[in-house]
Order: sequence, then C-alpha cells, then structure tokens
Amino acid sequence: MSDPGDSTILRPALAVLPGGRVASNVEIELRGDRIAEVRDATAPADWNVCLLPGFVNAHSHAFQRGLRGLGESFPDGTGSFFTWRESMYALVESLDPDLCHAICRLAFEEMLDAGITTVGEFHYLHHGPDADWALDAAVLAAASDAGIRLVLLQSDYVRGGFDDRPLAGGQRRFDTGSETDFVAACERAVAHARGPLQSVAPIVHSTRAVPIDRIERMRQVARSLGTAFHLHLEEVVAEIDDCRATHGTTPMRLLLDRGVVDDRTTAVHCTHSSPEDLRDFAAAGGMVCLCPNTEGNLGDGIPDLATMRAAGIPIAIGTDLNSRLSPTEDLRWIEYVQRIHRQMRGAVIDANARIGGALFDIGTAHGARSLGVESGEIAPGTLADFAAIDLDHRTLAGVSPAVVLEAIITGTGPEAMAGTCVGGRWLRGGPSA
Ligand SMILES: [Zn+2]
Repeated sequence: MSDPGDSTILRPALAVLPGGRVASNVEIELRGDRIAEVRDATAPADWNVCLLPGFVNAHSHAFQRGLRGLGESFPDGTGSFFTWRESMYALVESLDPDLCHAICRLAFEEMLDAGITTVGEFHYLHHGPDADWALDAAVLAAASDAGIRLVLLQSDYVRGGFDDRPLAGGQRRFDTGSETDFVAACERAVAHARGPLQSVAPIVHSTRAVPIDRIERMRQVARSLGTAFHLHLEEVVAEIDDCRATHGTTPMRLLLDRGVVDDRTTAVHCTHSSPEDLRDFAAAGGMVCLCPNTEGNLGDGIPDLATMRAAGIPIAIGTDLNSRLSPTEDLRWIEYVQRIHRQMRGAVIDANARIGGALFDIGTAHGARSLGVESGEIAPGTLADFAAIDLDHRTLAGVSPAVVLEAIITGTGPEAMAGTCVGGRWLRGGPSA
C-alpha cells in the first residue's frame, strides 16, 4: 500500500470485480470514502488476500443476538416459530437502553469480524421499560460506536394480528401508535443518525402487524423520501391462512393488488410464497431477502428458489436473528438447502454455470441494491467498503485462483478474514496490519 496525498492504493493478490470476475494484477485507488479507480497494477501485489466488496447484510434484528443459545430446549418434545417467538418476547421485556446498546454493539462488532460492512437493521423494538422510543437512539449509537454502515429500517408495528387484536405483553414495546407518531419518530431517527454511515428508511413490519391501508400510505411516505421499503412476508403458513381468512387472498397478492411492490421493495423470507404470486412479484420489480441460518434455526421451511430465479427476482441475504454471523455460511446454505430438498446440485449458478459469482452477488451487490447503498461492487465511484480474505489461511491452502470464489463460499468463513474496511477506514486488519 502506498499513500500519495489523500489517496490510498491497494494492491491485493486477487480482487473480485463486478460479475464475480476474479482478477490478479489490478490495483484499487481510494480517495476519501470512495473507490476512485480500478486499473492494471503499476507495481507487484503487496498483500496476499482476495479483496471482496464488503458483505451486505440486508436484514438484521441486532437485539436478537441476546438470544444466542437460548430457545434451543424443547420440554414439550418439539418447538416452532411460535415457541421461539415467546423466548424473543421475554428478551424484549428485559431490555433497557443500556442493555440494548450493549447487545446490538456486540452484534455489529461480530458482523465486522465476519466482513459485513453494511447492515439493514430492521428495527421494531422502539421502547424501553420507562422511556418511549429510547431504543431507536440506542441502536444508532451502537452501530456508530462499532463503525459499521447502517440503514435503519425503521419499522411500523401497530397490531397483534390480521383480526386487529391489540398488542400484548412484550409486543407493546413495538407499538408505533398513530401514523403521525410514527412519522415523527422516523424524523427523530433521521436527526439521531450520524453521517455519513447512517441513514433511515421508514418501513412496515408485516401485513400482520400493520393494516393494508396504512401499509399503502407508508409506502407513499417511503416513495416520497426515495428510500428502500422492506417487510416480512410469508415466513410461516399461519400468516398466509390468517390473511386469507381476513382478506380472502395471500399477503403477497394483497400487496400486489394495492400497488405496494416496486423495484425498491424487498420482501423478507417468502418461504411459502406461491409460484403465481412470485412471478407477479417479479414483474412488479420486487426483491427477496433470504435468511438461511434463521429460516433453518426456526424451522420455517424451504423457499421456492427455482421459481424466484426463473422469474428473475434479485435475492439478498440477511442474518435476521443473528444466531450465527457468517455471510459465507448463509450463502452456501442458500444453495445447500435446495440441494438437499431437490436432490440436485447447482441451484444458484451464474452465466458461466458456476455458483461462485451468483452467490457472491447475493451477498454483496444485491444487498446494496435492496438497501439503496452505493456499495457491493469494487468499481469506480462506489463506497470503499471491503472484506479481505487471507489467502495464506489454512482453509484456502491448495486452492487455485480459478476457483477461489467457490472455495471462499463453500470452505471458509470469518476465521479467514484479513481485514474489514468501511468507507476507506480499516476497522479490522488491513494492508498494514
Ligand atoms: Zn426478521
């Protein structure tokens, strides 16, 4: 690395460029928090890493890091999403702003350890035990203290079910009140957000937790701001059954009929979405965020990835409940659950018939697009966010550059990180570490 003036030049042994192309003999010039230029190397490589754009985690609930190891005993023989949710509500009732900050900071630090440089924090736990909205500022402060880039997906949440039942128990900590209250809370979050790494996007939790008329209006608020719009969708069968009982249709179809879906919309999970709905969702421009570790942990089911891929839906990844923070593990499990389910290999392949570039885009460029962040690619003008993988690490010994992307995704994880850089600043390792 050299440092002429205010620019920095990185000369990694390998760099992954757009389209999953693994290049040697390139150098990357950084200026400020952006990539200024990617060009043929003018000097030999001086860092034996594979430089990747930082991973983008499009869906996290950082406070749920506090559940790690919990909810894994089954005194009644078996559990479900709903028995897990009771453990989550118990955690919620124990959190004050200090404890929330500490747990969220732990999650964000662990994300940086794993090469995640941007997180979409899907934030619905707003209230402390005796202070309304106190946890919004706690989450923003935790991310700022860790140094990760964050889009606060500030989530609306007003009811306990499609039948309009009121919020009860721990759910009351999520209550966003009137639309005026919620919009005011979003404006306060914008004021609390610390630039240039933090931004705020108003969203809704789900079709269960927010009535469809209000979802439509919040969608308009987000459109007027030009921000990303996310919501949980069709993670469990009961959600679809309850929606049919009230509206006579599926949650996804309800959103499509009301014009909520466009190319800034990301639906999280879609585990039980029908092929017909997915095709129309694709035509409307929607994206899907899969959370394989969480969907596995909770026993949600296996999504219809074949239809999503055939319809051209861009897929992103999220760590959701943060039981495990390893983007490569999430990427390999997107592919592996399909292999197990369909008794075939190669569920997610790129134009070259390989898994590396296709899965890699899911972990980087697609997540950035989902959140509306100018990262996820090593290209001029994008943010200087990187994850550097140590090519001397034992897990990559004997791997040729031709298959390094596949080896990183299938064979290694946070243990091989040699550096994590956010906005041109190395928060872990780095070329001179
Ligand atoms: Zn979630």
